[in-house]
Amino acid sequence: MQSLGSGSSGNAFLIKTDGASILLDCGVGIRTIDRALRIHDRRLDNLDAVLITHEHSDHIRSLASLFGKKTPIVATAGTRRQANIPPPQWEEITFARPLAIGSVSVWAIMVKHDAREPCGYLIETPHARISVFTDLGSWHERLVEPIRASDLVVLESNHDEELLRNGPYPAYLKRRVASDVGHLSNDICACSLASALGSGRLQPTIWLAHLSQTNNSPGLAENAARSAFFDVGLSLDVSALPRTVSGPVWTPTTVREVSSWTPKRVPPESSQLTLDSLP
Ligand SMILES: [Zn+2]
Ligand SMILES: [Zn+2]
Repeated sequence: MQSLGSGSSGNAFLIKTDGASILLDCGVGIRTIDRALRIHDRRLDNLDAVLITHEHSDHIRSLASLFGKKTPIVATAGTRRQANIPPPQWEEITFARPLAIGSVSVWAIMVKHDAREPCGYLIETPHARISVFTDLGSWHERLVEPIRASDLVVLESNHDEELLRNGPYPAYLKRRVASDVGHLSNDICACSLASALGSGRLQPTIWLAHLSQTNNSPGLAENAARSAFFDVGLSLDVSALPRTVSGPVWTPTTVREVSSWTPKRVPPESSQLTLDSLP
């Protein structure tokens, strides 16, 4: 798994297993994607699938270059409409069941963001699980299970709350980013991960993603995560993904047999306890 860019300038991940090569989001330049595939001896024409999280341009900028090819484009129905994915190429994914791409299973997990039907993904190969959640304004209980089940966790750590508050963004943009359909702050990312992973059996690698150039720095995001982990007795490999260039390649350190992941029931959106719903 490699990030080819992570942030408002463009997002894409390349996932390569023995049997499949999959692109997750298509928001970086098509030549960057082509180059990354060639390094692994693959071509754009034989990508096995492209998974799309939502229709914002930093996630689909180069998607039209793949229209007309044989590659299936996996997206929710809402994202398909907003991203104008041609129906013959569209492979629908719902929140109810996984999709098989060769030996890889893919689950879409609902997130809150100001897009039509956005999602994150849990990707399960025979030997490892990866979960990817970027572009979400708020944490939800339903993210705990996929994150606890993963060997690599990619979670948005978009902004430092104080830098956003005091920074140069116009008021409407500050409100949008900080809203529960905007982007996840360093503190929410760090505390949510620490509480999700605190008593877990796996010690996943953590990639902090979609950092703001204006309202964050890799050091701030990494320190927030490390100190939250320290507080719950965790010492995990944490790194912030570079925004505009490719990041490191992750491969599972131990080869383990992964049994099929199935979600337990999680509370629906409406029964979520929020500060507003407290008496
Ligand atoms: Zn984005
Ligand atoms: Zn977005």
